Amino acid sequence: MLTDWGFPDFDDHEGVHLFTDRDSGLSAVIAIHSTKLGPAAGGVRFWNYADSKAAITDALRLSRGMSYKNAMAGLPMGGGKGVVLAPRQGAAITPAQLEAFGRAVESLGGRYVTAEDVGMSENSMKIVATQTRHVSGLPVAAGSAGGDPGPVTAMGVYLGVKAAAKRGLGADSMRGVRVSIQGVGSVGGGLARLLAKDGAVLTLADIHGEHAKALAAEIGAAVVPTEEILGLETDIVSPNALGAILTEASIAALRCKVVAGGANNQLATRADGHRLHGRGILYAPDYVINAGGIINVGLEYLGLGDRAEVMARVDKIPERLIEVWDESDRTGDPESEVADRIAQRLIGRG
Ligand code: NAD
Repeated sequence: MLTDWGFPDFDDHEGVHLFTDRDSGLSAVIAIHSTKLGPAAGGVRFWNYADSKAAITDALRLSRGMSYKNAMAGLPMGGGKGVVLAPRQGAAITPAQLEAFGRAVESLGGRYVTAEDVGMSENSMKIVATQTRHVSGLPVAAGSAGGDPGPVTAMGVYLGVKAAAKRGLGADSMRGVRVSIQGVGSVGGGLARLLAKDGAVLTLADIHGEHAKALAAEIGAAVVPTEEILGLETDIVSPNALGAILTEASIAALRCKVVAGGANNQLATRADGHRLHGRGILYAPDYVINAGGIINVGLEYLGLGDRAEVMARVDKIPERLIEVWDESDRTGDPESEVADRIAQRLIGRG
């Protein structure tokens, strides 16, 4: 029996669906990891991958992460993820491609529920919604759950960073705490603004250098080239760009006490969770700290509550992190392994 189909990240996914639409030029992957707790929810990313294998691997990893994230967030939803292959870096997805993606989502009959991720917006979801109702992250009325998940994710990451600062640095306030932020888009930018208000000492880096410079001027932060941000001497490194940035080499070069940020799949491999732990660096498992967005769009899709309910659930993110850190202290296991174990139990794979 084939167990990994040539993809080491294949983890008994319930389905991996490949779509092409010749008229619009869409190439997309939708990976459904688990529907044990409910429909497989997870955003769709538009990105220029080195090749199709890299795109499928990303969908496999991200969808498993969504199963774990949704379970840890207490949502009655499974885990899935969409990726749309961009023809080159900086390309924009077309309305026709968004419609074709919407039809692809519809063809899965509600087993997968999409929302925006990197390279997508609320407007993108409006176009997707012309073809399917299995979509969230749509513009909503003030006070309702839903809408752009980025700011809610940023709020959850902010609360998690503060909890990590207390745990890892003994800091009761963020005043004077040095935080290096990689990626200042929707999540990293929102986080930077919140931390700046608390008096944190921020250093920013983004491949769109002008974004980082403009934000730094607005909030009073420093900017460094992207290749320097992870190795800076700092208190907290906060990854908020793309995944797989914690590798053997980058972990060896870290000069911080805490890693806590919103990017999905920060650890390149499981071994990197052990490496981080071995270096005595406190880690906030990515899918626990960045659950704010899925709580927002999950409650929107399920019709389970308003904005106040979303924020009440986001407020619990620090408690969940503390649960993971406590078990890690008790068992001596890395935070990443402890979080996976708790999540696997929740989705019936423990
Ligand atoms: P975004 O596209 O708004 O921002 C990403 C930023 O990272 C961009 O400014 C981009 O230029 C920058 N970037 C890309 N590669 C970089 C690199 N190598 N070095 C420095 N900067 C780099 O996306 P976002 O919504 O802010 O998401 C950021 C991360 O958080 C992603 O990993 C995403 O999967 C994750 N996440 C987002 C949400 C959400 O609600 N938006 C929820 C959970 C997790």
